[in-house]
Amino acid sequence: MSSTDPNVFMRWSIGAVKITRVLELPPVSADPAIFIQTDKQAIIERRAWLCPDFAEEDGSIKLHFQAFIIEARGLRILVDPCIGNDKPRSHPALSMLNNPFLERLAAAGYPRESIDYVLCTHLHVDHCGWNTMLVDGKWLPTFPNAQYLFAKDEYQHLQVDDHGDARAVLEDSVKPIVDAGLARFVDPDHVIVDEVRLQPTPGHTPGHCSVVVSSQGQEAVITGDVLHHPVQVAIPHVGDNFCWDQQLATSARRRLLEQVSNRKALLLGSHVSGPTGIYLKPDGDSWTIDGTANEGTGRD
Ligand SMILES: [Zn+2]
Repeated sequence: MSSTDPNVFMRWSIGAVKITRVLELPPVSADPAIFIQTDKQAIIERRAWLCPDFAEEDGSIKLHFQAFIIEARGLRILVDPCIGNDKPRSHPALSMLNNPFLERLAAAGYPRESIDYVLCTHLHVDHCGWNTMLVDGKWLPTFPNAQYLFAKDEYQHLQVDDHGDARAVLEDSVKPIVDAGLARFVDPDHVIVDEVRLQPTPGHTPGHCSVVVSSQGQEAVITGDVLHHPVQVAIPHVGDNFCWDQQLATSARRRLLEQVSNRKALLLGSHVSGPTGIYLKPDGDSWTIDGTANEGTGRD
């Protein structure tokens, strides 16, 4: 995948706000049970709308690892800087990567020095890795001119979390930002600029936030990991395998999906493959897809 590959970037306009997607890894195809608490049969039963964008005919799911750049009022906000390079991680597929993510970001028009804010929906390995980069054996902020926004509850939880790679994330992706004086600790409903705000969606982690973009009557929501795969819009009670509190996460997921559906918002899924952007409509007591969008303007 070269930086000129058209599949690397996707762009949407939400009123006066631009949102660009940059992929870190090539799309991943996997048994759903690795990520979410359901099996291939649940996918196969819904293959009419899940294939080919979001799943394979055999019931494997497709997933992306990707970041979003929001441009609003002349400010550039990078949401969820993926996994990062050179970081030792417990899962081999995420460990010691060497990907041209920064080159892709620059090719999309966003050299790292031009980013004003970095925002992590939560502090898991695949959402804050590029916070830092390895320079002469030290982890330094990748985006030297940015303020890094961390939800207070999320940051506090990371101090005591000893699951998975949490200690390593704290040491190599969060602490160097705090030490450099670039961290800002915010409330879970923090407003970054008029058009861009956080919305608390706790459960996957204690301080998990989604990002709401509203401009000129149009809206988009960047989910973070309140949702991993589009099948969860149809079966929102299905949680993921990396979750802190399943019940809380399910409530947050249902609330967010209802909001997206009611407000005709563009749902931009942090791990959603294919067109990445989806619209929802109600279907009984859950939802189904009401169109996809890999580019273009939001709905009024
Ligand atoms: Zn994730």
